[in-house]
Amino acid sequence: MQGDGGLSLDGKKIYIHAMVWGGARLMAAAFRACGLDAEVTPPSDAATLEIGSRYTGGDECLPARITVGDYVRVLLERASEADRIVFFMPGADGPCRFGQYAIHLQRLLRQHGFQGTGVLSPSCADGYRMPAALHRTGWRAVVASDILLKLLLQHRPYEIRKGSADELYRECVEQVAGAIEGGPLEPGAQMRALRRALVACRDRFRALPVRRDPSTPLIGVVGEIFCRLNSFSNAELIRRIEEYGAEVWLSDVGEWIWYSHAEQLRLLGLTGRGFSREALAARVRAWIQHRDERRLLEPFARDFAGYAEPSMREILAAARPYLPQQGAIGEMVINVGKAACLARRGVDGIVDISPFTCMNGVVSEAIYPLLSRDLGGIPIRSFYFDGTQADLDGDLGVFLELVRSYRARKPVARPWPWGGRRERPQGRLARAYS
Ligand code: SF4
Repeated sequence: MQGDGGLSLDGKKIYIHAMVWGGARLMAAAFRACGLDAEVTPPSDAATLEIGSRYTGGDECLPARITVGDYVRVLLERASEADRIVFFMPGADGPCRFGQYAIHLQRLLRQHGFQGTGVLSPSCADGYRMPAALHRTGWRAVVASDILLKLLLQHRPYEIRKGSADELYRECVEQVAGAIEGGPLEPGAQMRALRRALVACRDRFRALPVRRDPSTPLIGVVGEIFCRLNSFSNAELIRRIEEYGAEVWLSDVGEWIWYSHAEQLRLLGLTGRGFSREALAARVRAWIQHRDERRLLEPFARDFAGYAEPSMREILAAARPYLPQQGAIGEMVINVGKAACLARRGVDGIVDISPFTCMNGVVSEAIYPLLSRDLGGIPIRSFYFDGTQADLDGDLGVFLELVRSYRARKPVARPWPWGGRRERPQGRLARAYS
């Protein structure tokens, strides 16, 4: 099988960075289902940063340092297999440095004598297209991973035995990975196998002993995709928010795919190709992906009641008064739009997680005071990370105090699909959310 740019993948081992472990594990399963050898990089640790700093110039963003650190570490440990190794590094167009990661990695490999090591870099410019079976299975893996992570975050703050939700999550990821890599490739049969595995995981989560408390604040988390999802990069901020007695609604990976699709169509339209064969193919692909996503989410209608992710159309519309899609590109648009959508769904506060000097984070932070004012004063706090130890406790304590005070006066109740007592929505600020 060939990757993009004619890179042959036959006989190679593809390493996928564990940006979010469950997602990388399921993506590796998707590659294996298509007859390719794929593995997840080992967990990041202090050596990651040390190696990453040695092989980068200092101007790169934290995610570049971490991915380079983890990939080079694989090469240093398996130098004799270097010609068999391919690193998975998706790219992107647009103004930020993400588009340079794959190019930088390729140059670095050549400079250090690893000419035989490949970089597989599907790009958002063409909606991350890969060979058809891999594209479809990979997309299903992304959706399944988002579902399992949502289940974990819905349960972990309420678990009775500490660590039980994480244990169950890991088991479920393995169960779903097994269904992907050991199951059929034919789309209909694969969908049935995947749904069966997800329903089994759903039922196991439903049976997890928890003690729920409807007064738990719900915090929406947006921000740079790598840093918000990679717990090593963000110094376990999600877990720390939970330790402060809150639940987290973490923005999913799928939203970036939908954003890339919207951008692809916008750019085709701008260049007079809005009704071209390319645009038609992109629309058909999106239609199929939407259908797959719906089918995988159907069994979770009860579990995710009130937690449905907003569509990209809704996110872009919510961002438009602040950062219109036509004038701003990238995650800043998604972050601002998503923050507004989450506020309307009843979250009690918003956290933005970004790497230090991240352009998207800086622009979003400049918009947040205006957004907060327009949304009845919802607390929005940006946290930046650069790989050094940060004392977050003081900031988190103050933020959670603001959250509790906002919660007492906000107009929209937080979602609570588990029955029992619910907050009563208050109408005083309802206009801000209309
Ligand atoms: S989104 Fe931010 S951290 Fe990521 S590449 Fe762009 S500037 Fe760097």
